[in-house]
Amino acid sequence: MSQRTANRARVIRALRERGPLSRRELAGTGLSRSTVTAVVDELVGAGVVTETEGPVRGAGRPAQLLSLHPRLGVAVGVEIANGVVRAAVCDVSRRLLSHGEIAVDDRTEPEKTLVVVGELVDRLLDGRPRESVLGVGVAIPGPIQRGTGRSGRATTLKPWVDVNPYAAAAEALRLPLAVDNDANLAAVAEATWGAARGLRDVAYVYSAAGIGVGFILNGSLYAGANGTAGELGHTTIDENGEICECGGRGCLNTLANAASITQNLRRSHGRELSIGEVITLAHDGDLGCRRVIADAGRHIGLAAANLYNLLDPELIVLGGNLAPAGEILLGPLRESMARRAIHAGEVLPPFIAGELGQDVVVAMGAAAVVLRDDERFPLPVRHTGK
Ligand SMILES: [Zn+2]
Repeated sequence: MSQRTANRARVIRALRERGPLSRRELAGTGLSRSTVTAVVDELVGAGVVTETEGPVRGAGRPAQLLSLHPRLGVAVGVEIANGVVRAAVCDVSRRLLSHGEIAVDDRTEPEKTLVVVGELVDRLLDGRPRESVLGVGVAIPGPIQRGTGRSGRATTLKPWVDVNPYAAAAEALRLPLAVDNDANLAAVAEATWGAARGLRDVAYVYSAAGIGVGFILNGSLYAGANGTAGELGHTTIDENGEICECGGRGCLNTLANAASITQNLRRSHGRELSIGEVITLAHDGDLGCRRVIADAGRHIGLAAANLYNLLDPELIVLGGNLAPAGEILLGPLRESMARRAIHAGEVLPPFIAGELGQDVVVAMGAAAVVLRDDERFPLPVRHTGK
């Protein structure tokens, strides 16, 4: 590869990995200012890079930001979740173009669910040719075992247990593909667009049917040797507690997931409330609802203290169906975490709610994986370097 081609590849890679950047930030990637200017001019001329005005910071002119040209293609993200499939389409400049969802019964076989996914993706592409799709990221609600590629027992969507989701989705969608766990991909979304943007050591606590964690450690997604890292919902909180679906006793999920929270209110409220209803009632001042959410927060805080003691992230983010509870959950959570976390003279990491909506965060993360991975999902850029 000539030096010129190598420099061009470096600029394109930086824009893929980090999103829109100023010329000054690009020069920070190890290229001289004059090289950046020459390479950028060439890429703008070739229609690969485009220049836009960034947000105004303080007084003065807004920074000019360089990003990949939207016409280079789109990335699709898909979330297969309990009761619903969701998808999002983003262009290479990281704009969210469209997103949507379709309800699917939890008992539906993977093949049938994937037919619905294909229909949803086609609808969201809105006439764009399939050739413009760089790749599809697919999130499933459970760990994917590294060795076999199969989804593990902890998968909350039962028809997907012990299925190879990559093989199933590749067959159904016939597009370049990446598959990962929902919490991991939501973590990537918050690191790309949201609360964890630009950070290197982040834990993202994601609550759906169960509670999982996506770890970004040293700037990379950490899945563990077997792909099961981050099963926070199956860490033991009460050794004498109830039996969990996993066969363990007193797991965090038995005390703080959505189902265990709503179960606590059956007697007092006379019917099974949804977690969304419980949170709305709590915000309206319902004492019972506030109480069960605060209790769940304390349990998650205990688990988070253990997590912090082991991994020392700079930020912990909460996302998913418990995040709308806000301070009703986070207040008791932080208090419980602070009581148990080691204090090495440093302040504890902030524990905050994510910035991206729970209906789109996982699908956006699945698309972000495609946008960031230049090896598996190459751009249609011609390298004509001399
Ligand atoms: Zn368990």
